[in-house]
Amino acid sequence: MEDIVIVGTGPAGLTAAIYLARAGYSPLVLEGPQPGGQLTTTTEVENFPGFPEGVLGTDLMANMRQQAEKFGARFQTGWVQSTDLSKRPFKLTFENGSEMFTQSMIISTGASAKYMGIPGERDNIGRGVSTCATCDGFFFRGKKIIVVGGGDSAMEEAGFLTRFASEVRLVHRREELRASKIMQDRARANDKIKWSLGVTPLEVEAGEQGLRGLRVHDNATGEETLLEADGVFVAIGHTPNTGFLGGQVTTDELGYIAVQPGTSLTNIPGVYACGDVQDHRYRQAITAAGSGCMAALDCEHELEVFKAGRLKEEVNV
Ligand code: NAP
Repeated sequence: MEDIVIVGTGPAGLTAAIYLARAGYSPLVLEGPQPGGQLTTTTEVENFPGFPEGVLGTDLMANMRQQAEKFGARFQTGWVQSTDLSKRPFKLTFENGSEMFTQSMIISTGASAKYMGIPGERDNIGRGVSTCATCDGFFFRGKKIIVVGGGDSAMEEAGFLTRFASEVRLVHRREELRASKIMQDRARANDKIKWSLGVTPLEVEAGEQGLRGLRVHDNATGEETLLEADGVFVAIGHTPNTGFLGGQVTTDELGYIAVQPGTSLTNIPGVYACGDVQDHRYRQAITAAGSGCMAALDCEHELEVFKAGRLKEEVNV
């Protein structure tokens, strides 16, 4: 039986662990297949406050983990397959069939960027392929960039990347964009953005010197061409990692966990959410860390009240 289990080890989960451990709890942090979360897939993080020279994403996460451990947080590797949140203590069932019970749970499982699933894409993550313009745009100053996608994310990323790139080419598989009119209009008004619509991405091509570009198939003519670029930003959406909750925690219309505004409280008392799993808007390491702190404080407060209530019940019995 655990008091607090934190599922997920990105900046949100680890910040929650630091706060709770420092407050005298001994939270159990469950690490999934990608310890440290999305930040471990980027290289240099230059916008996390406190690091004027920048910090490697992997180092930042290793430091946070070390800090949490120093105060007494415990770590365990395990993939939570399903949960029973119908009553306290909550039941977590792991991939290997083992079970765990906890009075409180903090969900910080993040969101996974969607990838196109074409050759050369995964191999070149961090070497020209990125899913985060805010994280990596700076490294493409004066370079040619392709942004893939036709939704609001793609429009936003393309606009942001024009600050750095010499040219941004928006590549979308259909002639019609999915993005809202205002976002489309803004992108179309930007001279630095070029358009390749109605083309299907086939392969990210790279050589010794880095990326060559994106090979695409023109849906109208059937022609194959290489669109030259130094960077390919994939902006085709994110998926919040909530599958293990089996629909018990209320989500918004996009599938992100709905928290009571200004808090980390979910629809289930004792279950909290922080980081990208409840945020499709900001998606930054620092906002995730901030929400992790909120989850820790919410959890700590409620757990005390819950335990005091139980003690009273036991005395009355
Ligand atoms: P989205 O609206 O689902 O758009 C994803 C885009 O990627 C679509 O155009 C889709 O093409 C394309 N796509 C999907 N899979 C692909 C594949 N395998 N290969 C090539 N292209 C693929 O996702 P989003 O843009 O991330 O937006 C998600 C939500 O967040 C939306 O509700 C959006 O309004 C919101 N958002 C808002 C803002 C803002 O207001 N500032 C910014 C970002 C996001 P098809 O169109 O052909 O399906």
